[in-house]
Amino acid sequence: MRSIRTLINEVNNLLIKKFGIPPRNKKLPDPLDMLIATILSQNTNDNNSYKAYQNLKNRYKSWNELVNVKRVTIESVIRVAGLAKQKSHTIKELIGKLNTKNDLSLRSIKNLDNNRAIEQLSNFHGVGTKTASCVLLFALNRNICPVDTHVHRTTNRIGIVSEKTPDKTFYALNKNFPDKIAHSFHTNLIRLGREICTPTKPGCGICPLNELCNYPNKNFDLKKEGLKRDFMLLDNVSK
Ligand code: SF4
Repeated sequence: MRSIRTLINEVNNLLIKKFGIPPRNKKLPDPLDMLIATILSQNTNDNNSYKAYQNLKNRYKSWNELVNVKRVTIESVIRVAGLAKQKSHTIKELIGKLNTKNDLSLRSIKNLDNNRAIEQLSNFHGVGTKTASCVLLFALNRNICPVDTHVHRTTNRIGIVSEKTPDKTFYALNKNFPDKIAHSFHTNLIRLGREICTPTKPGCGICPLNELCNYPNKNFDLKKEGLKRDFMLLDNVSK
């Protein structure tokens, strides 16, 4: 039986063959930019969260300015992202706490190991393991694979892990993750989940992972050819 590490490497190679190596910004974004962009991306699509993020960036020169901005104003600026009341609360509280600690660049997490950094970020209201791990992968270039609904569904269907929740999948997957491939693995799995391994009627007939996937309810009826690639927010923060 293959180890999780071997399976992750095999899946990564097959996904790169199908989708290529996902492009990446040469300059890493600021961790706080990434944290706010990821908060905005919760439960919405990347296009709308990107618009909300740009609205904030265009309106305020620095996150510092949000200290004195009313929460309802933030809510109106980010409305396009959905759940604007909840997200504006999270952002307002986050900026207030960081301002109190005099750490509006989030520099304090740069020297922490992955577990401590996730723990620290998860202490902010509205920030969970997925959001925290996105900051680590995309802004700190840590070799860590965030688990959203697509990564949870696909890794469990394939048989890399067998877990009931995204957080449990995250810890099982990242226990011994192969070096240097977290960004391509994560990004290409999201693409697979959006375009082929969809929640209902996955396109197993065109899936590059068909031979190694253990999902018992494979679907070969549907041809999902020609689907357009979605815009990926977290690879476009601060561009
Ligand atoms: S073979 Fe089917 S179930 Fe398995 S990863 Fe591919 S699309 Fe998903």
